[in-house]
Amino acid sequence: MPFQNLGLSAPVLRGVQAMGYTVPTPVQIRAIPAILQGKDLIASAQTGTGKTAAFALPALTLLQQHGTCRCLVLEPTRELAAQVETAFRDYSRFTDLRVALLHGGVGYGNQLKELRHGTDIVVATPGRLEDHLKQRTLHLNDINLLILDEVDRMLDIGFLPAVKKIVSRCPSARQTLFFSATLPPQIVELANWALHDPIKIEIGVNRSVASSVTHALYPVSQLQKHDLLRALLEKTDFDSVLIFSRTKHGADRIATRLKAENHSVAVLHANRSQNQRMEALSGFKSGKYEVMVATDIASRGIDIAGVTHVINYDVPEHPEDYVHRIGRTGRAQSVGDAFTLVTREEERHVHAIEYFIGRKIERLTLEGFSYAQPPAVTSVASVRWDGRGKRGRRFRRR
Ligand code: AMP
Repeated sequence: MPFQNLGLSAPVLRGVQAMGYTVPTPVQIRAIPAILQGKDLIASAQTGTGKTAAFALPALTLLQQHGTCRCLVLEPTRELAAQVETAFRDYSRFTDLRVALLHGGVGYGNQLKELRHGTDIVVATPGRLEDHLKQRTLHLNDINLLILDEVDRMLDIGFLPAVKKIVSRCPSARQTLFFSATLPPQIVELANWALHDPIKIEIGVNRSVASSVTHALYPVSQLQKHDLLRALLEKTDFDSVLIFSRTKHGADRIATRLKAENHSVAVLHANRSQNQRMEALSGFKSGKYEVMVATDIASRGIDIAGVTHVINYDVPEHPEDYVHRIGRTGRAQSVGDAFTLVTREEERHVHAIEYFIGRKIERLTLEGFSYAQPPAVTSVASVRWDGRGKRGRRFRRR
C-alpha cells in the first residue's frame, strides 16, 4: 500500500517523500487511518518499526495549520524526546506547524523562547513539563491530541504519578494515543483510565529479534569478562559498537579500560550531564567514537544508524531489554551482530530471555582466547576468528 492511500495531507506526504520513505511499515498502515479517524489507540510495536512516523504523520495531518498548542507528546528520556522532536520537524517541513522540545538538564531560556513564539506540538519529558506547568509558562487547555510514547519505560523510571497528573491537566475531550512495547497489568490499568474505547494494534514482534541480526552468547567467568571483551573487539571487523552495561558505574569502568586500550569511547548513562549525553550520542552517530558504552537508557528507541555490533557486557535482567538492546543493530535490514557475555551466575537470566524470545541462542567460544575455565558451550562449534566467520564475513579489526 502506498503512503498516498492512508489519508495524509499533501504537505505531510511531501515531507514523507523528502525523507525517502517509499512504503509505510505495518504499524503505520494500521495506526495512521485509525488516528485520522479520531480514534484512541493502544499500540505495541518493536522500536525500529517506524512507530514515530505512525503517530507523527497523522498528528501533523490533523493539526493542519499553525494555531495554539494542541498536541502533546510525552517521552521517557531526553534522548528520545529530542529524537521525536527532530522527526516532527522533518515531517512537518512543508507545513507552517511548529514544534517545541521541553526536557530537563538544560536551561529554560530557549524553551521559554519557543513557547512564547507559539507552538503547535510540544514533545516533553514529564519532569520538565511539570515545571513549566507549575511556572505557568505553558498550559494544556487546548490539547486535543495526547501521545504517550514508550509508556512501559516511563513507568519503569517512576513517572506514573507525573504522567497521571499531566493527563488530568489535559481536556477530557481529547484523542489519546498510547505506545508501549509491553502491556503489563499496570499499563492496561493506566490505559483504561486515560483512553476511551481504544483500537488495539499489536505488531507482535516485540518478543523477537530482527531476522537481520545474528546473536550469540559467550560464556566466560566474571574475572575474564573484560579480557574477552577486548579480544572480541580486536577480532571483530566493526564500524561502530554499542556496549551495554547493567550499571552506570560499570559503564564508566568499561569505558575507562577501553580508552586505556586505545579505543575512542563515548559513555551514555543517566548520571552524565545533558551536554555530555548529547555529545556522546552525536559523537557516536558521526563516527567520532567507534564505541559507545551505555546503560539501558540507550536501549529503547534511540535510532543510531550503522551500529554494526551490540555487545552485552552483562546479561540484561529483563528479557524485553535484551530485545531492545539487540534492536540497536540490524535496523532497517542492515546485518548486525550481537554478542552477550555470560557468567554462570547470569545463566538464569539467559533462560528467561530464551523463553521470552521462544528459542535457544547459540553459545560460542572465541578461538585463540585462553579461557581460565572451560566455558559451558552447549551447541555449535566455535566461530573461526582467523579471517572468516562462519557466515563468510570477515572478522578483523579495521
Ligand atoms: P522508529 O521506530 O520510529 O524509531 O523508526 C525507525 C527508523 O525507521 C527511523 O530511522 C525512521 O526514519 C525510519 N522509518 C520510519 N518509517 C519508515 C518508512 N515507512 N520507510 C523507511 N524508513 C522508515
